[in-house]
Amino acid sequence: MNVERLKTDILILGTGGAGLFAALHAHKANPDLDITIVSKGLLGKCGCTRMVQGGYNVALNPGDSVERHFMDTIEGGKWLPHQALAWTLVSTAVERIHELENEIGCFFDRNPDGTLHGKAFAGQTFDRTVHKGDLTGIEIINRLMEQVWARPAIRRLEEHRAVALIPAADGALSGALLVDVRSGDFKFVAAQAVLLATGGGPTMYRYHTPSGDKSMDGLAMALRFGLPLRDMEMVQFHPTGLLAGPDTRMTGTVLEEGLRGSGGHLLNGAMHRFMGDYDPKLERATRDVVSRAIYAEMRAGRTTRNGGVYIKMSHLGPQRVAKEFKGMVDRCRDCGFDLAGGLVEVVPTAHYFMGGVICEVDTATERAGLFVAGEDASGMHGANRLGGNGVANSTAFGGIAGDVMPRWLAAEKPGHRVPDPNVLDAEVARALHPFGQKSGDLNALREKLLNIMWDDVGVVRDRAGLQRGLAAIDAIEAELLATGVADAGRRFNLTWHDWLNLRSLTEISRVIARAALKRENSRGAHFRSDFPEPGDLATSWFTVARQTPGGIGVGTEPVAFTHVKPGETLLRDQAAAE
Ligand SMILES: Cc1cc2nc3c(=O)[nH]c(=O)nc-3n(C[C@H](O)[C@H](O)[C@H](O)COP(=O)(O)OP(=O)(O)OC[C@H]3O[C@@H](n4cnc5c(N)ncnc54)[C@H](O)[C@@H]3O)c2cc1C
Repeated sequence: MNVERLKTDILILGTGGAGLFAALHAHKANPDLDITIVSKGLLGKCGCTRMVQGGYNVALNPGDSVERHFMDTIEGGKWLPHQALAWTLVSTAVERIHELENEIGCFFDRNPDGTLHGKAFAGQTFDRTVHKGDLTGIEIINRLMEQVWARPAIRRLEEHRAVALIPAADGALSGALLVDVRSGDFKFVAAQAVLLATGGGPTMYRYHTPSGDKSMDGLAMALRFGLPLRDMEMVQFHPTGLLAGPDTRMTGTVLEEGLRGSGGHLLNGAMHRFMGDYDPKLERATRDVVSRAIYAEMRAGRTTRNGGVYIKMSHLGPQRVAKEFKGMVDRCRDCGFDLAGGLVEVVPTAHYFMGGVICEVDTATERAGLFVAGEDASGMHGANRLGGNGVANSTAFGGIAGDVMPRWLAAEKPGHRVPDPNVLDAEVARALHPFGQKSGDLNALREKLLNIMWDDVGVVRDRAGLQRGLAAIDAIEAELLATGVADAGRRFNLTWHDWLNLRSLTEISRVIARAALKRENSRGAHFRSDFPEPGDLATSWFTVARQTPGGIGVGTEPVAFTHVKPGETLLRDQAAAE
């Protein structure tokens, strides 16, 4: 098989907030470096940063503080976050939002006095979510895209899919193998440093929100490359996915957090406002709590026509709702619902993946030359991500990666390494696998995975369900390996890419289920009905999964309380000091 060879200094896999910020910062740090960005889709049109609705958490208001944002992040994450990473996230967000406005050119909504408006987001003690209406991500990604376009020195490989990280014969990182989606040809890009920023994306659940190009490829590649993955049981379900029946892909898409934050009510099929039965914070409880409450109502059969619950906004005044949530109102109208004046059916939907590659605060991984940022990285959010901390995370750490990689190259002078030909051949053969099989019903297989993950590895879990889920995942993988793609051509063969997507999803689904079996307690997004207690906070631990010769091994490591211990708060310290 012919594999075209390219060379670059810094290879960035993914063009969301993390990847684009990394490219801009690396270029600024050293304009002489050769930087290549790779995107499975089109620049500015793919990934989830574009889909950000609600906004960007940042402590700007004098009544707020970085410490308060940090405490919300730690408490929201149920004391599992890596505290140095969480601190870096909340403190860098302040610098990054000014950069987004003043250097990248974003416009965000303002208060009458000219300061940035912070909207209310559930699970937070201050209204700190900066936004552009309810379509914040389009503003951020369009401006980032323009900045990258304005720098032709940043080479772009759009509609190129990364399929493997490739080592040299001595095991050190050599580069990445790509498939050019348009031609179907393979490319190997030798790089001195690689940033993994493919954005996670739990699209293996029946209801899910992330963009269709996201299928956990980055984590599947990292796992095969031998990297440890943290918190893999932690899948965030957003409580209010649109439920518009099985015949539209709009089902599962998210209705933003600000709806609950600004006073929306959740009603079950009997029109009872049920959140008071579950949590005193009502609809403003964190996402995990609200998702479980809705799931419980569904299990009890107190559902709407399509099997979910209702969100009601009309008591806030239809005109206000139509003005403040224009994007959401339009989206609901497209599906036949009146968000401003009526009721909209919603269901919990898989939204964000807290798990990912273990990294340092400078985005370095345990393999020299490989860096990770954005949703592929782990530790910042622990057991639960606050709404608004996702795009803050990807832009904060993407920028850091862009600062760090040029410095690392200058200090380490790693040079380009020759890829191990055996691994390269094996990875090409692995990607071509479905062309050697009899074609089958890939969509039915995908549906099977979506259903098994929703039913057995979803909002509420127990041992029997997880074991059932694992057996089903093994069976789906075996069936997938025996299933081919419809035609033999590789040019823009989307069935081939569906196959590759499903393979990544199946592999990471197994890791999620294994990590969920390991965690015999209930923290944040992970709830075990057979172990409903959270466990001792002071001795909190996180899961670490690795590929081993025998399959997936899952161990645990203690959380280091470097900044604050359970039962303490940085805010009291601050108050005492004042
Ligand atoms: C509907 C929705 C609404 C959201 N709203 C908010 C919000 O209001 N506030 C908030 O903070 N967060 C929100 N989030 C989360 C937020 O979007 C993400 O946390 C963040 O944008 C992730 O950034 P990223 O750069 O890591 O990944 P992404 O922006 O998803 O980018 C991933 C990139 O990797 C590429 N890619 C994937 N696989 C491959 C591959 N194999 N090879 C090459 N490229 C690949 C993709 O094409 C894409 O370019 C929302 C998410 C969704 C889905």
